[in-house]
Amino acid sequence: MGYPFVEIDLEKIAANTRLLVELCRKQDIQVVGVTKAFCADTAIAQTMINGGVQMLGDARIQNLRKLREAGIKVPFMLLRIPMPSEADEVVRIADCSLASEFTTMRQLSQAAKKAGYVHNVVLMVDMGDLREGVVPQKILPLVQQSLLLPGVRIQGFGVNFACYAGLIPTPEILNNLVSLTQEVREKVALELPVISGGNSANIELLLNGGIPAEITQLRLGESILLGRETVHYRPIPGAYQDAFILHAEVIEVQEKPSASQGEMGRDAFGDIPVLEDRGIRKRAIVAIGRQDVTLEGLQPLLPGVENLGGSSDHLILDVTDADNVISVGQELCFSIEYGALVHAMVSPYVSRVYKYPENYCCG
Ligand SMILES: *Cc1c(COP(=O)(O)O)cnc(C)c1O
Repeated sequence: MGYPFVEIDLEKIAANTRLLVELCRKQDIQVVGVTKAFCADTAIAQTMINGGVQMLGDARIQNLRKLREAGIKVPFMLLRIPMPSEADEVVRIADCSLASEFTTMRQLSQAAKKAGYVHNVVLMVDMGDLREGVVPQKILPLVQQSLLLPGVRIQGFGVNFACYAGLIPTPEILNNLVSLTQEVREKVALELPVISGGNSANIELLLNGGIPAEITQLRLGESILLGRETVHYRPIPGAYQDAFILHAEVIEVQEKPSASQGEMGRDAFGDIPVLEDRGIRKRAIVAIGRQDVTLEGLQPLLPGVENLGGSSDHLILDVTDADNVISVGQELCFSIEYGALVHAMVSPYVSRVYKYPENYCCG
């Protein structure tokens, strides 16, 4: 296996999944395992299923199609509100989608009728994160209008947090969503069994009992993969934070001034570098760059090694204070943050190596 590669510990992902699914189960909450951060890699998706998630969700219909073609049979949720132009494929591949536009639901309804299905939708309510969803006052009219569409079934309402405006979930916001759902249930003859209460930003609430009993579902990606909640990035007790480790190879080790002596212009990306003069330092270059991963999201695992950033194909490290001697040809390992993980999993230059659990079974 060539460098760079991401080592994926499926046992740790399975353990994190089991932990979160069990925490949710105790509060009657179903878990949608979110696959978009790892490009719907089928081994990881299967691991989430083995760990107990009831559904899989992805933002891209291509990813869901890939999972279906790989023989994965659990229900699928399309997380990004659909493009009207992909309605035919959405109703064929996804069992449910999040939605906020009547125009799109009309397309979904037509596509579903044509194909002989009824497509489930969860209507998104924007409770303040300012990404997808209608404002609360608009939800009843949207439901009433959508009741006329024979090909879609409104399953309930959903909310998203901490994605665009950084809205932090609170019991109050979730209670408002619950009240809204109850009001709509009374006004229209709909059961609305699903209240999809958020994502990995909700984990702190989940841990301290702050999720109202009426919430039926959470859509979890990062918390399963990296073992953290996403409001304060605190580790989840009992979960692994190191299921993904990036491995890359050292291609140069040289002593150099920490700030250049020449006249300074812009770097390869048009930014003006700010380099602190710390005298002569020992630096290592690793063969990985911005084409592979978001360099800021990498933390060297060897104590004393510092990430100085880099360019398209090079990552520069200060290894002066490293615990071990670093030499050319050596492998270095890095922990990897969410954004960097997403990037690494879509880069054609980054390979994947799996550590399978003993009882791994697929299909
Ligand atoms: C990405 C996404 C999620 C999962 O978010 P995590 O923070 O990874 O848990 C949930 N819902 C929607 C709509 C998303 O786009």
